[in-house]
Amino acid sequence: MAKIVMKNIKKRYKNSESLTVKDFNLSIDHKEFIVLVGPSGCGKSTTLRMIAGLEDISEGDLLIEEKRMNDVAPKNRDIAMVFQNYALYPHMTVYDNMAFALKIKKINKSEIDLRVKEAAKILGLEEYLKRKPKALSGGQRQRVALGRAMVRNPKVFLMDEPLSNLDAKLRSQMRAEISKLHRKLGATTIYVTHDQTEAMTMASRIVIMKDGKIQQIGTPKEVYDHP
Ligand code: ADP
Ligand code: ADP
Repeated sequence: MAKIVMKNIKKRYKNSESLTVKDFNLSIDHKEFIVLVGPSGCGKSTTLRMIAGLEDISEGDLLIEEKRMNDVAPKNRDIAMVFQNYALYPHMTVYDNMAFALKIKKINKSEIDLRVKEAAKILGLEEYLKRKPKALSGGQRQRVALGRAMVRNPKVFLMDEPLSNLDAKLRSQMRAEISKLHRKLGATTIYVTHDQTEAMTMASRIVIMKDGKIQQIGTPKEVYDHP
């Protein structure tokens, strides 16, 4: 049974004459790593934001584990999102950045401590927990952003070009780390990128969007190997 089902999803922004997302149909299985690609402006971010609940769905159904989510508040969706500009809280330490969402949820201190330290260990951030973001490298900051999402143990991870601000070397390192993390945690992931290498190396399936619609879906081999 699919984890995420999107049925005839459409999006029309207020003040916009045309549909930004025209008819999006996709079933995503547990533990899949979907990479969503397509030209700038084709509706990738809008699609992610609708799944996160940060944008209303104009028409259609979003189901997560068979439950209709269209009208469920973002905080009740059990979804974590990681962005390209990983806006960390500048005045907080790495530890507090990762703990913040959990504190808001009133999770108890020892549980928060456990989760933050576990995430820090996996991400190689143990030595940096007391630092502020400005005392970190770009790659370390992006790891904190990942950690902040991870500690919430989300069922679903949404990532919108999380590596595009990093240099090539770090990108390839982080690519491997995110794949490893995915194998370990197994959370269903949708990852937006315009980087073909990321799509080829990370995806269980690639979804190519064009002009608000899905143009092609397939494994990396099916999509990129043209005999
Ligand atoms: P992508 O992520 O594929 O680059 P987006 O989903 O960001 O595409 O944007 C798709 C289209 O929707 C673009 O034409 C963009 O200008 C438009 N758009 C995005 N956000 C809004 C908004 N809040 N209001 C109106 N139009 C928007
Ligand atoms: P934060 O805990 O980062 O300060 P809020 O308190 O504003 O965020 O939001 C509470 C909940 O809303 C989060 O735990 C999350 O489930 C959801 N949420 C907020 N922003 C986002 C986002 N950018 N992507 C996905 N979910 C979000």
